[in-house]
Amino acid sequence: MNLKIFHLNTQAKIIFTWLIIGSVIIGIIALISINNIQNKLDKNYSEFAQLTTKAIAAQTSDFENVSEEQKALILKDRFSSFIENNEDISFIEYKDKNNKIIYSSKKHLPVNDDDTVLSVSSPVVFNNNITGSVIVGLTGKGIKLISSTTKKTLFGIFALTWLTFTVLLLSSFLLMSKELKNLYKGVKQISTGQFGVKLETENTGELTDAFNDMSKILSKYEEQNIEQLTLERNKLEAVLMSIINGVIVCDNFDNIVLANSASLHMLEVEEKDFINTKIQNYIDSHGQKCFLEKIEEFKDTPLNIIESKPVEFNIEAGKRTIKAMISPMFSKQQDYVGYIIVLIDITRETEVNKLKNTFISNVSHELRTPVTVLRTYIDTLCHNGDDFDEDTKKEFMNTIDNEAKRLHTMVNDILDFSRLESGNIALKKEYTNLIELLEQNINSIKILADEKNIKITLKKAGEIPKVPINIESMDRVIRNLLSNAIKYSPDGKDILVTSCVCDDNKYVEFSVKDNGIGIAKEHLDKIFDRFYRVENATHTIKGTGLGLHLVKLTIEKYHNGSVTVESKENEGSTFTVKLPLNIDENELI
Ligand code: ADP
Repeated sequence: MNLKIFHLNTQAKIIFTWLIIGSVIIGIIALISINNIQNKLDKNYSEFAQLTTKAIAAQTSDFENVSEEQKALILKDRFSSFIENNEDISFIEYKDKNNKIIYSSKKHLPVNDDDTVLSVSSPVVFNNNITGSVIVGLTGKGIKLISSTTKKTLFGIFALTWLTFTVLLLSSFLLMSKELKNLYKGVKQISTGQFGVKLETENTGELTDAFNDMSKILSKYEEQNIEQLTLERNKLEAVLMSIINGVIVCDNFDNIVLANSASLHMLEVEEKDFINTKIQNYIDSHGQKCFLEKIEEFKDTPLNIIESKPVEFNIEAGKRTIKAMISPMFSKQQDYVGYIIVLIDITRETEVNKLKNTFISNVSHELRTPVTVLRTYIDTLCHNGDDFDEDTKKEFMNTIDNEAKRLHTMVNDILDFSRLESGNIALKKEYTNLIELLEQNINSIKILADEKNIKITLKKAGEIPKVPINIESMDRVIRNLLSNAIKYSPDGKDILVTSCVCDDNKYVEFSVKDNGIGIAKEHLDKIFDRFYRVENATHTIKGTGLGLHLVKLTIEKYHNGSVTVESKENEGSTFTVKLPLNIDENELI
């Protein structure tokens, strides 16, 4: 229904009804008043006529002994000028007791019978005897004048009253309709959400004031609501933007309506090129529309199934492997409104899995070689031992011993790895002479270094205090670093081991510097990862990819120290271990 028409019509109807009722009431009052006054005037006039006739009759009572002709002359003399000067008297007649007209002014004065509105007769009494009668005709001219003047005045008064009433009613109607129109405009603006609109009127009515107050309050509420909503939205946006997993929201028509920064980063796309496009158009690093088939599969699966089991698949984007999960999205009313794609970067897990597989094959290979050597040597000794001289037998035994040691070290490495990795052990420490430990290790590895004609030198800068360390685990750290330095150095490239006190006597550090094959920049931050081996070295040099990971675990997790590497390909590497001199008493044996 049109609000404007409804208001104005109702208002107009009321106003015009009141106008008609008011006019009718004023008209009726006017008619009754005029009628009453007319009746009163008529009554008074007839009383006036009676009195006048009686008075005239009194003037004709003393004619006892006078002849009829004389009577007529006297009456003519008495009343002629009276009638002429009095417009209200049209005629006077005198009749004797036999009802014979003795005198009639009509005889000598012209009378228009139509002018006579009232004729009154009065008996003439003399000495208690009726001697005749007087008839007076009245024109009613005076009363007519009074009546018409009164009527005009009253009419004027009522007309003025009606006019005032009408003008007041109409002007209030106009004023009200103007205010209502204004109000209507304001309400309309508020209904379109323009809170705070103010009605401008010359005379501020209560309604306008109330409206303006309401509008002001609404605007305040709106501001508060907007602030609240913005806050909530910002919070949600911040949450969405800060989560490390990618989130893509698509509407019912596959248009991307939202994508957080993690998803853009993972898929290597720009927001402006991605938002509002169809998700199916995304092309992965193999040039495939990787979402196309999966979205079809998602749409073909009944909602009740897909709700508990989202469609999952992997995407290759750039150098990343991403796990994508598509789940349906519902409104508060449980209507299906689109779907959400969650992206998880599983590059690392994929790499680790790959590395694990390589590790298993490497370990199997590493184990098989010494076991084969051991079996061959032991078999030979068992079956043909008597054929060999003592020196050959000794050489055989040494080889068996070395291979057994290698096997032992490798098995220990693997066991230590799982022990240290689980983090359930406490490595008790004691203040130890680090230089002695370094010397012992250099000596025990000397055979290996000699094989490659490598000289290992130890240099210490000043006095090195005893360091709180777990001897067994530190022993393995030093052994690992030294054996790597030998393993990854060509023949004849010497190794330098140094040690010093640093950082205001708070730390002791030692470095193992080789002049070997070095490590390329892109591998530097990965060589400490478990199972990681530099690709080119894996085929020629034996290893498990566990050594440096154990070094890092031992130093950083169990000794609160640090291990760093500096390296240049084909020039050599320097591994530096930094150990704190002061540790918690509880950590000591
Ligand atoms: P592994 O030696 O058994 O392969 P590590 O964890 O000890 O495993 O070392 C990881 C990788 O780091 C090695 O595969 C090797 O490529 C590289 N690396 C370690 N030490 C050196 C070094 N001194 N010089 C050059 N490369 C090294």
